[in-house]
Amino acid sequence: MPKRDYYEVLGVARDASEAEIKKAYRQLARQYHPDMNPGDKGAEAKFKEVQEAYEVLSDADKRARYDQFGHAGTEAGSTGFGGFDFGGAGADFGGFGDIFDMFFGGGFGRASRRQGPERGADLRLDIEIPFEEAVFGGEKEVGVPRQERCSSCDGSGAAPGTRPRTCPTCHGSGQVRVTQNTPLGHFQTIRTCHQCHGQGTIIETPCPACRGRGVVQRTRKIKIKIPPGVDTGARLRMAGEGESGARGGPPGDLYIFISVRPHPFFQRDGFDILCEVPVNMVQAALGDRIMVPTLDGKVELSIPAGTQSGSVFRIKGKGIPRLNSAGRGDQHVRVHVETPTNLTEKQKEVLREFGHLYGREPKGAREQDKGFFKKVKDAFMG
Ligand SMILES: [Zn+2]
Ligand SMILES: [Zn+2]
Repeated sequence: MPKRDYYEVLGVARDASEAEIKKAYRQLARQYHPDMNPGDKGAEAKFKEVQEAYEVLSDADKRARYDQFGHAGTEAGSTGFGGFDFGGAGADFGGFGDIFDMFFGGGFGRASRRQGPERGADLRLDIEIPFEEAVFGGEKEVGVPRQERCSSCDGSGAAPGTRPRTCPTCHGSGQVRVTQNTPLGHFQTIRTCHQCHGQGTIIETPCPACRGRGVVQRTRKIKIKIPPGVDTGARLRMAGEGESGARGGPPGDLYIFISVRPHPFFQRDGFDILCEVPVNMVQAALGDRIMVPTLDGKVELSIPAGTQSGSVFRIKGKGIPRLNSAGRGDQHVRVHVETPTNLTEKQKEVLREFGHLYGREPKGAREQDKGFFKKVKDAFMG
């Protein structure tokens, strides 16, 4: 069964405030709560639906992703872009937490947390892509400087032909117990082993290629697939493309933050494209067929006689592909009527004549003002 729109589920507008969303959720949750509807399967399903909608719309980050990508934006790993998902802040950034721990953590809290080889750090890569590429998607090769497992020692850090030895001080645990005698009594604390620095093993002959670290710095070329319809702020996660873990630990992830270069002519509004085209006053007055640039090349657009400056015309299906459903947004063309400048004598003459016929030649400006003010007066005084 296709999923319903979350806003529809909660019965709120797309621009509903946090408070409105919360209020709607509370009301519906009470209404469909299983305790209130014992044995009613329909109510139970509704209750679940309401909860799911609220979970997404109450979280600013998830809501933004949902607004941009629909349901696909909220289902990590199921977007169908081969290995990508749209990672958000929070839980997905678990790896960043490790970095913070490295700087701010420590002490024996850290030491007692250590289990096995450490996972490699997550990497962040910021890329800027052209407007067209964001619209239609594409493939990009980028160079990612990162720590990779040393191929000479296969990440062990020991010179080829040798093996790391179990640390004799901690017997491989990476930790040692230290008993301190203080006036208040004996305290036992667990500390990181000073001989192996918590690794549990000692390398007697370090690998010359990586100097015993097990990893080397390398710039790896990585192909990024950009899904069509992405916008500035989209994040792609490439699992396992971060830094290699030290001494055989699992790799971190690579997060790609996308920003879209502004287009000189097109502006984006959700999945629609906005643009402005100039026409001259004769075209506006008599109507014309004009050529309008679109993302797919030029398209002919008919403007009717009597078009006003600022009128907006819609070209269907020339917008941005929707990530979640078939079809594309539209292009909105705003017409800007240009007043001619630098007229020749002949042109001025024709315009004066036109003005005369139209009843608004400059000399008659006063008459026209009178007429205008009379209209205003009539409108207000009846
Ligand atoms: Zn090595
Ligand atoms: Zn040790």
